[in-house]
Amino acid sequence: MADARILVAEDDPAIRSAVSWLLKEQGYEVAAVARSHDLIDQIERRSPDLVLLDVANPDEDGAEVMKQMRADERWRDIPVVMVSQPGDDVAVRALKSGAADYMAKPFRLRELMARVQAQLRSRDTLRRAYAALHEVSEALIDAREEAKSRRELVDILHEVTGELSPEEIFRILARRVARALDISRCSVILAHPGDELGIVATAFDNPGLRNFPIRLDRYPEIRAALDHGKPVLVEEGITSPLYSEIRKVWAAEGLAVPVQSAIALPFTLDRTQLGVFFLRTSGNEPPLSHHDIEFADTVIRAAVAAIQRAQLLETTRADKARLQELATTDSVTQILNRRALVERLSHEMERARRYSTPLALLMVDLDHFKEINDTHGHLVGDEALREVARLLETGVRTVDIVARYGGEEFAIVLPETSHEGAVAFAERVRERVAQHDFASDRIPPLHITVSVGVASVPAADIESVNDLFSRADEALYRAKAGGRNQVRA
Ligand code: GH3
Ligand code: MG
Ligand code: MG
Repeated sequence: MADARILVAEDDPAIRSAVSWLLKEQGYEVAAVARSHDLIDQIERRSPDLVLLDVANPDEDGAEVMKQMRADERWRDIPVVMVSQPGDDVAVRALKSGAADYMAKPFRLRELMARVQAQLRSRDTLRRAYAALHEVSEALIDAREEAKSRRELVDILHEVTGELSPEEIFRILARRVARALDISRCSVILAHPGDELGIVATAFDNPGLRNFPIRLDRYPEIRAALDHGKPVLVEEGITSPLYSEIRKVWAAEGLAVPVQSAIALPFTLDRTQLGVFFLRTSGNEPPLSHHDIEFADTVIRAAVAAIQRAQLLETTRADKARLQELATTDSVTQILNRRALVERLSHEMERARRYSTPLALLMVDLDHFKEINDTHGHLVGDEALREVARLLETGVRTVDIVARYGGEEFAIVLPETSHEGAVAFAERVRERVAQHDFASDRIPPLHITVSVGVASVPAADIESVNDLFSRADEALYRAKAGGRNQVRA
């Protein structure tokens, strides 16, 4: 407190210089004035930490000075130690006028010093308390704001990361950003730098509007955002230099400046999806600020990243599924191919071995199929193959596996099926094909039969998938040799 500034207002020159000298000795910075009406001017100039004020009448000239000091926020809390000639209730009147302390003349200098010190101390404490209070309330406001932003953000992202199309995502984003900032106009414009037209993908204030073209020469903030790839803030539509040209257009059209404030936030979704989030206020809405840019930008960036992640995942998943399908599906019949068959059969054999359950394999070969191709052509042959595949598939249980083994040969795997059961099933398949009417708008009336070879485990000398195939093939050969359209095991 030794470096505190003290202003002394004292008309008695002897007292003024004595007090000033003593205060300086204590290490204070002192300024002195003779008349109390110079005081306000000096307070203004020196912003003292304490005022020592000699008045003739505490409730007249004293009260007047106090009134002026209290009127100004900067001086309101400066402690005033009042001094005057003694009189009736003079201390009460001084303190009532707002003085922090009072001393009657003649006073002892040491006592005055002690009172000044006490006042400076309490003023210091008060100041620190105020500062702390201020800091706490600022922090509270920040925390509240941040919590609000975070909550909004989490809400928005939660809504956005679902399985939504970009259009829906834009619609949700526009709505959420508009609500969070409490503005009525928020839209998403798709455009590239240099484009003449932009497409309104969505507009919060006009939900029906979709893929609506707009002329970008009427939106200088959108153009600027696209050109520079940075957010653009128009704080005041009436004065913004960015609007200098468009204001002329508006004036020529007899329009009042329709935008009070605006933010254009560019974003990039992928190479084709480029655009701007466009926020505007009008009328008596609170104007947009840098703080709003930050908020909207954070939300939009996070959302765009989420959309990109979702799309990437989707594409990767779809690609993987497509490749997987390509790798395991026969292109003519759309049933499993030989590769998939061998894999699944190995799996099933392993299971059969582990759980000691039976398993059967049927090899189904079309009889004299070459003749069908020769007579009707390969396209009809293909149609016939597809139809047989469909017949086989619809005739099996869900656990069974139907595959095209190659050419006009199919395989059926029957898990947990005994040898006898498999032979009976094979017989039904043979019958079904033989009785099927193949005629359709793509296939002429055909009579198609199949020969079927059956093999199963457990069986002596069948150890591997290859053994099982060989055994079924041998049976099939016997069926062919036996006259076709028959089952052999
Ligand atoms: P069988 O089995 O009764 O002894 O006589 P086959 O005529 O069916 O047997 P072969 O092995 O002599 O001929 C098989 C024929 O199947 C040859 C080919 O024209 C036909 N084929 C194989 N794959 C396809 C295909 O993908 N599409 C068509 N349209 N025909 C195919
Ligand atoms: Mg054949
Ligand atoms: Mg064949």
